[in-house]
Amino acid sequence: MADPQSLAIVTGAGRGIGRQIAEELLAMGMTVIAVDLQEDLLAALPGALDNPGDKLQTRKLDVTDSDAFGALIDEVATQYGRLDVLVNNAGITRDGLLMRMSEADWDAVMNVNLKSAFVGTRAAARHMIRRRSGAIINMSSYSGLEGNRGQANYAASKAGLIGLTKTTAKELASKNVRCNAVAPGFIQTEMTDVLPDQAKDMALAQIPLKRFGRPADVAKAVAFLASEAASYITGQVISVDGGMHT
Ligand code: NAD
Repeated sequence: MADPQSLAIVTGAGRGIGRQIAEELLAMGMTVIAVDLQEDLLAALPGALDNPGDKLQTRKLDVTDSDAFGALIDEVATQYGRLDVLVNNAGITRDGLLMRMSEADWDAVMNVNLKSAFVGTRAAARHMIRRRSGAIINMSSYSGLEGNRGQANYAASKAGLIGLTKTTAKELASKNVRCNAVAPGFIQTEMTDVLPDQAKDMALAQIPLKRFGRPADVAKAVAFLASEAASYITGQVISVDGGMHT
């Protein structure tokens, strides 16, 4: 169990992996600020998480609104007098082959997936450094480690998150603030549900453990990295992909 006063912010927590991360951190006893773009998902969250009471707060926010994201982090960290964990999980795909990819699709993915993590990390670090304690976890991807046809924008954003993670870890280690990344493979969520069956079959054939991942598989790795059990781990990328990346 975490210190019962601990405060975590999770972005993209309305559904999928982010929602599961919120559930894991709540189960550890943390207070969780669940951030998402979609108000309806946030409204349904307390019910989906078995009514966690005031340990769960929901905040509608577009993480690409840098001023609003920074202000939210400052507001809750000041209100609670601490910020222990930031999980930069919000992410989107705008897939297409490189030759046909528009700049708009490139920019959208970079802004949600990568720039927001920089903005969030910069804001959170100020509060974490003050207390000489904190853990930041960035949601990368197998695509960021290996590249993936049709995902030049997404793979670049997820590779960028690894560079951000390693640099943040180096800059903040002396202040006892850790930063790690998780690189999921193919996880069954609404993001991947929309893929054609043929793409799913091809993905499954590449997974040594012969099954798609579950959001809980990823959330448990995040919870570990957020916990005291990982207090000597920083600058790492943990693959949660059924053995694809070795
Ligand atoms: P999802 O689409 O099911 O959920 C993403 C959540 O992020 C949604 O609730 C969405 O509303 C929110 N979001 C999107 N843009 C936002 C914004 N601008 N501001 C605030 N919230 C925003 O996706 P998921 O499968 O749960 O993926 C979560 C993370 O894990 C993403 O970063 C994704 O890239 C990464 N990931 C997923 C897989 C997978 O197979 N599902 C694999 C590797 C990495």
